Amino acid sequence: MKNGYLSSWAKNVSPSPTLAVDAKAKALKAAGEDVCGFGAGEPDFDTPSFIKDVCAQALADGKTKYAPAAGIPDLRNALAQKYHEKGVLSEKNPAQVIVSPGGKYSCYLAILATCGPGDEVIIPAPYWVSYPEMVKLAGATPRIVFAGDNQGFKVTPTQIEEVLSPSSKLIILNSPSNPTGCLYSHQEMEAIVELACRHDLLIMSDEIYEYLLYDNAEHFSPASFSPEAADRVITVSGFSKTFSMTGWRLGTLVANPTITKAVADLQSQTTSNATTFAQFGALAAMENWDQAMDAVQGMLIHFDRRRLKLLDGLQGISGITCQRSEGAFYLFPNISSYGLSSEDFSARLLEEEKVAVVSGHAFGAEGYIRLSYATADEIIENGLNRIRKFCNNLN
Ligand SMILES: *Cc1c(COP(=O)(O)O)cnc(C)c1O
Repeated sequence: MKNGYLSSWAKNVSPSPTLAVDAKAKALKAAGEDVCGFGAGEPDFDTPSFIKDVCAQALADGKTKYAPAAGIPDLRNALAQKYHEKGVLSEKNPAQVIVSPGGKYSCYLAILATCGPGDEVIIPAPYWVSYPEMVKLAGATPRIVFAGDNQGFKVTPTQIEEVLSPSSKLIILNSPSNPTGCLYSHQEMEAIVELACRHDLLIMSDEIYEYLLYDNAEHFSPASFSPEAADRVITVSGFSKTFSMTGWRLGTLVANPTITKAVADLQSQTTSNATTFAQFGALAAMENWDQAMDAVQGMLIHFDRRRLKLLDGLQGISGITCQRSEGAFYLFPNISSYGLSSEDFSARLLEEEKVAVVSGHAFGAEGYIRLSYATADEIIENGLNRIRKFCNNLN
C-alpha cells in the first residue's frame, strides 16, 4: 500500500488524553479497583428532567427525520434572541447562529472555515487538548503562548504580539478555561479584542463554561465589546457543560454571516444536522430559561462547595500550590516542586494510590495536573487523603 493505510492527517493526530485517562480509570474500576476519578471533563449530574421530557415527547411525536443542517429554526431563533440580549449579536439574526453536534464540532468547524495551510493560529496555553489538533487537521499551524500560574494562567496582549507574524489569522480564547478555571476580566478581554482589531485577526471564543461561575465572577464575550469585535469573533458554546447534556451532542456557533454560511455548508457535507429530537430538548431549555437557570444554580451550589473543598485540601499539601479558579469545574495545581514530569506524577498517582488526574503535559503545561471536581464529595475527600499520602512519600 502506497505510504501505508493512513493519511498524513491520521498519522499526525493524537487521541484525546482526557478521554484516555477517563477510560483507564473506568477500566480499573471495572476490574474491581477503588479508583478516585478526577479525570472526567463532564458534570456528574443528570440532565434536568423537563429537558429530557420534551426530548422524549419529540421522539414520540416522530421528530426522527433529518432537520436543516444549521439547526431547527425555533432553536436558532431562540439562540439568536439570547445572543442578542447578551450583546453578541447586534441584531436578532438566526442566520448568524448554527446548531452543531457538540461544542467540540463547533470549534472544529470554526477553525476549518477560517484557517488553512499557511495560516497561523495563536493558542494560549494551558489550552484545551483539542485546539492544537484541530488546527493541524485544518492544515494550519498552532503558535502556543504560555501563561503559568504566576500570571493567573492568562496571556497578555504583549505576549500575543511577540508571536504575531503576517500569517497570523486566529486567536483562540477559552474563558472560563478548561483546564485552569481561570476567567478573563472585562479589562483583560477588552485588551485582547483591541489587539485583534488592530492586527486584523479573528478570535474564536469558546464559551462552553460561560454559566459555570463562582465568587460572583462575571463572564465577558469578546464579541460584545464593539460592532467590529462582533464581526471578528466566532462565539462557540453548547449545552453540554451548562445543562449537564454531554451525551446529547449539541453545540452552538455564532459569527458573521459569511462565516456561518461556510460553517453550515461544511456541516451539511460532513454530519448534516445535530440530532433532531435532541434539539427539541435544547429548545425547551431556551424557552424555559428561568427554570433552566434554576437547575444550573442547583448544580453550581454543589460545584462551588466541591471547588472550595478541593482547593483547600490541595493548598494544604506542602509542595503543591494551587490557584483559586473562578469558573468551569477544574483546578490546575502546580506540582513541579516534586521534580517529576507531570506525566510521571499522574501515572504514579494512578498506579500507587488509584487516583486519576490528567497530566498538565496534555494541556501544554508541564509541571501541572488537572483535577475535575465534577465528582462526589466523598471522592474528593478520599482522593485528597491519597494525594496527600502520595506527596508526603515523594517529599
Ligand atoms: C467540553 C468542552 C467543549 C465541548 O464540549 P461538547 O460536549 O462537544 O459540547 C468545548 N470546549 C471545551 C474547552 C470543553 O471543555
